[in-house]
Amino acid sequence: MTITLITGATRGLGREAARRLLDAGHDVYLAARDPARGRQAAADLGARALELDVTDEASIAAAVERVRAEVGSLDVLVNNAGIGGQQLPPEQATTADLRQVLETNVIGATAVLAAFTPLLELSAAPVVVNVSSSVGSLAINSQPQTGWSMLAYPMSKAALNMLTIQYAKAYPRWRVNAVTPGLTATDFTPATAAAGHPVEEGAEVIVRMAQLGSDGPTGTFVDADGPVPW
Ligand code: NAP
Repeated sequence: MTITLITGATRGLGREAARRLLDAGHDVYLAARDPARGRQAAADLGARALELDVTDEASIAAAVERVRAEVGSLDVLVNNAGIGGQQLPPEQATTADLRQVLETNVIGATAVLAAFTPLLELSAAPVVVNVSSSVGSLAINSQPQTGWSMLAYPMSKAALNMLTIQYAKAYPRWRVNAVTPGLTATDFTPATAAAGHPVEEGAEVIVRMAQLGSDGPTGTFVDADGPVPW
């Protein structure tokens, strides 16, 4: 059975991806920083609850040890946990917010990926899905008429995209891709939820890229319709 781990899966896109991948027959570790909410979500869906705060090295190490002891390897890692931060334009942004957003969205994802690398290497067909955003696209933001006036969050997703490219090159046997769910109505988007699509739709690209075979693409950035410019 395919062993899959999804970070930040208590709610929103991570939880929906967990639900769908369980339906597809994966054995899913539903990872959550809050153990009680993680246990509840895992019980609701029939997943394995796993405590994992992506900003806490000890928590990551303990999660790796548990997966190693229970199943011995990891086939699919979905780096989904993320925060938006204050979403302020450059002139108002603070370094405190920048630190917090980068700590979760970039350092956290990188630390989780590095820690689980030995278990992914033991898989016959390792797959990594980094849940990014078109908000992090340098190409879209550099157009005069498009883009978002924010600092921390776009910077974090641009860096996550670079993590994707570097890992895809370093581990050619793996499938490592960045995906953007598009504007999705979750707790993440309280102000814009009305304009966003439902979580079932947003999770589609995460679920599809989590099920790639070893002949699938790697080092790509995609949404539901195909490639997104870096
Ligand atoms: P959400 O509903 O706010 O869920 C975020 C999840 O991340 C929660 O489970 C949260 O856990 C978890 N999380 C936050 N910090 C964490 C940490 N330090 N360790 C472990 N888990 C942590 O947001 P969402 O909309 O589902 O977003 C999921 C991903 O999609 C994010 O990476 C986001 O950037 C990306 N994305 C979202 C949209 C959108 O429109 N919604 C668009 C593009 C990309 P708690 O429950 O404990 O807070």
